[in-house]
Amino acid sequence: MAKPNLRDMSLAEIEAFILSLGKEKYRAKQIMKWLYRTGATSFEEMTSLARDFKTKISEIACIDLPEHVKTQTSADGTRKVLFRLEDGLFVESVLIPGKNHWTACLSTQAGCRMGCEFCFTGRGGFRRNLRPSEITGQLTMLMFHAPDGGGIGSIVLMGMGEPLANYDNTVKAIRAITSDLGPGFSNRKVTLSTCGIAPMIRRLGKDICINLAVSLNAPDDETRNRLMPINRRYPLKELLAACRDYPMPGRRMLTFEYILIEGVNASPEQAEKLSRLLKGIRCKLNLIVFNEFPDSIFKSPSPKTVQAFQNILIKNHYTAILRASKGSDILAACGQLSGRENGPS
Ligand code: SF4
Repeated sequence: MAKPNLRDMSLAEIEAFILSLGKEKYRAKQIMKWLYRTGATSFEEMTSLARDFKTKISEIACIDLPEHVKTQTSADGTRKVLFRLEDGLFVESVLIPGKNHWTACLSTQAGCRMGCEFCFTGRGGFRRNLRPSEITGQLTMLMFHAPDGGGIGSIVLMGMGEPLANYDNTVKAIRAITSDLGPGFSNRKVTLSTCGIAPMIRRLGKDICINLAVSLNAPDDETRNRLMPINRRYPLKELLAACRDYPMPGRRMLTFEYILIEGVNASPEQAEKLSRLLKGIRCKLNLIVFNEFPDSIFKSPSPKTVQAFQNILIKNHYTAILRASKGSDILAACGQLSGRENGPS
């Protein structure tokens, strides 16, 4: 039987595990620091632990990380990093360059079953949920072991998969990432992006206080049903009610992502409709030009169409930012991750 991975455990679970070995509870905190602050890859490295304890614990538990396979660098500096998991599946993370730091975009599932029409990841189907160790493991690898991954200032759970469809593991991973004993990211620096599983948005708001981004992509149910099957289950009224109730302390704002697709959701009328739809929600909009991928049925809109859409939102007093789509030449942009060793074919 596979050894339990301590990276899958919360602090309380590591404490219980250590106590069951007849050792002091405080050792769990030391181990957490070694795992998340130092990026230790073996018990041997944990110099604050006694030799006999290290031998004992390494016989019954492990601290394995995803294996780094390769890093591709885009012309704009974006890096796509491919990892192999224990069972041979592949997942991808993306490092997005900013002015002063990198943003790490992590995956929460191998594949995705949400079936959004514009998304290449969804096309490959669903393989399995990632374990907490495989979610935080991507970050640890990027911070300490993948080439040039230092200087990560923020995290987005926006890679492969729908984080709220892997709720328990994702929340456990976020708790480790934002723990005092972890790599030290504040809740304000972590954003979870969802396709809109309304009841889970409510649950997340009660459990953990991180930033929320909702992939909206349409101003009405008819258009959204066409793009995102989840909308048939949780239509806009229900989704936006959950968004309105999501706790956003201080001056924080909810983010709506809107992928602009030619002839589908990018007309001036749709921009006006969107403005009416979001009235009263403290939010900002990230506009993303659709990234064409092999065999995609959709097309990117012209710069003129994009500008007109943005101008209407701004005229209606929204913060609407046109997000430069980074990494599209290496299929690292939004919705382009495939988790295949040789990329999409
Ligand atoms: Fe899944 Fe997100 Fe792609 Fe939709 S956009 S299929 S939720 S990975």
